[in-house]
Amino acid sequence: MHHFQYKDGVLYCEGVSLEGVAREVGTPCYVYSHSTLIRHYRVMEEAFSAFPHLICFAVKANSNLAVLRALVREGSGMDIVSGGELFRALRAGADPTKIVFAGVGKTEREMEYALRVGILMFNVESEQELETLQGVACRLDTKAPVALRVNPDVDPKTHPYISTGLKKSKFGISIKEAVKEYEKALSLPCIEVKGVHCHIGSQITQVEPFVDALQRVLVLVEELREMGVGISYVDMGGGLGIQYKDEDPPPPSELARSVAPLLAERDITLILEPGRVIAGNAGILLTKVLYLKKGELKDFVVVDAAMNDLARPSLYGAYHAILPVVEKPLGGMVADVVGPICESGDFLAQERELPALDRGDLLAVMSAGAYGFTMSSNYNSRPRVAEVMVKGGEFWVVREREAYEDLVKGERIPAFLLEG
Ligand SMILES: *Cc1c(COP(=O)(O)O)cnc(C)c1O
Repeated sequence: MHHFQYKDGVLYCEGVSLEGVAREVGTPCYVYSHSTLIRHYRVMEEAFSAFPHLICFAVKANSNLAVLRALVREGSGMDIVSGGELFRALRAGADPTKIVFAGVGKTEREMEYALRVGILMFNVESEQELETLQGVACRLDTKAPVALRVNPDVDPKTHPYISTGLKKSKFGISIKEAVKEYEKALSLPCIEVKGVHCHIGSQITQVEPFVDALQRVLVLVEELREMGVGISYVDMGGGLGIQYKDEDPPPPSELARSVAPLLAERDITLILEPGRVIAGNAGILLTKVLYLKKGELKDFVVVDAAMNDLARPSLYGAYHAILPVVEKPLGGMVADVVGPICESGDFLAQERELPALDRGDLLAVMSAGAYGFTMSSNYNSRPRVAEVMVKGGEFWVVREREAYEDLVKGERIPAFLLEG
């Protein structure tokens, strides 16, 4: 459920016409619905309310300060994967004791930053990382709270690029090696073991992979507890899928119902790291048709947004529904929707059935609130687009469109090139 609906033939975000946004802010721009974000967060929160839990929003899905702030106000924690995301989370007012830090390549500098602000837990992904964290924590005369990220080797049946819990994955520690690694962690004086973490992938549309992974993790938890290791947290990661096209992902309540019996009377706080399920359908990318072009084999709709603005179609072949902002019946044309970038991979949709479009028509690329702006770049020296947040009948520009000056910020021409 989201708040992007037609009213009298015009697509609205909540009470705001997307035509109006385009007129005032220009295109392309991302538009986020505050009510949808909050609704998705609350659905998750309510689903898991029966047992101790903490929701840590995956910042990489959408790291705009206004989005983070909206979730912080709901009580959300944050799941971060870099020092930059920690900076953003803190800037948005996140409580450091609700921040978990994942990622296979944390630097000592990032570790120090996170230790100084007092995050809840590092989700450690390798033995060398554990040793490095031990060194940094000892140097700061503190103890680093950790969970080890284990790789339960379950197939989330999603796109291979977003499967992270298989044996061949770069993420986590094999669950078979886990006991040995926990013994190692216990032997390190500046490491405090707090939990077990796993994250098996993204855009998962079934409950079974989560249940399988959790079962495997809980076997490990019991083993660790028998060894006297105090495990208070089980972090089951994120990954719950959303509807882009005709997927039928389970609602959070179904996931909660499936894992509840496994967690009963275990004295565990469950951590969840949802990203896509909170932000994905809370945002769209608003773009304008520049040209219609008839090719020999295919027709093209050239729009002003491109793969640098929304990478998912090019990167994963991902499907995003595309709706005309002014309602028109489907069936007028079949075309590729492409951007201005000089790459054949620059498309937002391929062989898509569309209404009969004209130059200047506005289009909404749906389900673009997660892994949209955060994956954007300046490729082809395209300034990054504006981001807008709508609440009720009002909207705010929550990130300005970049200017040409922003493109060259920090660049310098050495003196020798200026001579002559
Ligand atoms: C990307 C990621 C998430 C969020 O995944 P979604 O599919 O957006 O829910 C959560 N945890 C970790 C460790 C991640 O890398």
